[in-house]
Amino acid sequence: MTAPTTERDSVLPTPREHLTSEVTRAATRIQNTVLRATRDILRDAGFTEVLAPVIGPVTDPGIRGSKQVDVDFYGNRYRLMTSAILYKQASLLAFDKMFCIASNVRQEPMETASTSRHLAEFHQIDVEIAGASRDEAMGVAESILREAVSRVVSESADDLAALGRDLAAFGWLAEGEFARMTHAEAVRRLHDAGHGQSADAEIDWRGEALISELTGSPFFITDYPKGSRGFYDRESTSTPGVLRNFDLIAAEGFGELASGGEREHDYRAIITRMRETGENPAKYGWYLQLAREGIPASAGFGIGVERLVRFIAGLESAWQASAYPKLPGVVSP
Ligand code: AMP
Ligand code: MG
Repeated sequence: MTAPTTERDSVLPTPREHLTSEVTRAATRIQNTVLRATRDILRDAGFTEVLAPVIGPVTDPGIRGSKQVDVDFYGNRYRLMTSAILYKQASLLAFDKMFCIASNVRQEPMETASTSRHLAEFHQIDVEIAGASRDEAMGVAESILREAVSRVVSESADDLAALGRDLAAFGWLAEGEFARMTHAEAVRRLHDAGHGQSADAEIDWRGEALISELTGSPFFITDYPKGSRGFYDRESTSTPGVLRNFDLIAAEGFGELASGGEREHDYRAIITRMRETGENPAKYGWYLQLAREGIPASAGFGIGVERLVRFIAGLESAWQASAYPKLPGVVSP
């Protein structure tokens, strides 16, 4: 097992060192296999791939202190996409099952340069399904991970061997469905492990690595508290304050791979949740116009491509899974 470190990646290699390194080549080939497997499994399940926008008048407000990047669009202030969520919901007007492989830019807080998981520019496999429940979305996320790992093991075995990835790490492929625990249960386990995780917040960086170290198989955490997530994760009607959402957590300390959930789609509910999360609805004109006229109920998720490749390849850091890595605060091409 290759244990990830949480030490700061002090300096990125030069572009020449990085591009000519066997690690970069092997990781890139593994990424190719992962994306092929993802597209195959989604296409076979009836999904349509939509190319996601890079800029727009508004983007996912996000959480956990990352900042948006502005661009000038003919005198209007546009944003680089932090996630494709608004476009995913909108795309369901065209296709009931859609996905995109989207570029995201987030100016993450400087302290995340040392988590081994954060890049300032990364990609997501973003999936949205009209009329789906959280369970159905979790099933699709699980099948993408299983298919990606199986295909890498069979098609990229030489690259895994070159990276020293022990195939025993994937013993869970032969086992049943991924385990599930609620956020409240995750908080209890972290307290038992001596970590002071807040019960009302997103699992913090250290807690995320810690809970992921406690197991040899990927697993789900469900039911995050309302304050921890954006306006688009649907609030439970039976348990107000709890969201119908989930994270997929990798094994071995690699941490979060995906976040998803059922979506708010009702216009009034979206407005209420925007206000509760401190967002000004007036910024979201085009999206709210669609919501007022009606958008489908849905569930979906986003899997970080570099995080997924890092986990499968057993890389120390997510930046090793990018040909042109951008680490928070580090100036690079
Ligand atoms: P989020 O919307 O923050 O939950 O992001 C969705 C997924 O994208 C996460 O589960 C990660 O796999 C990935 N991701 C989010 N932020 C980053 C980042 N700064 N660097 C790399 N991957 C990220
Ligand atoms: Mg997340």
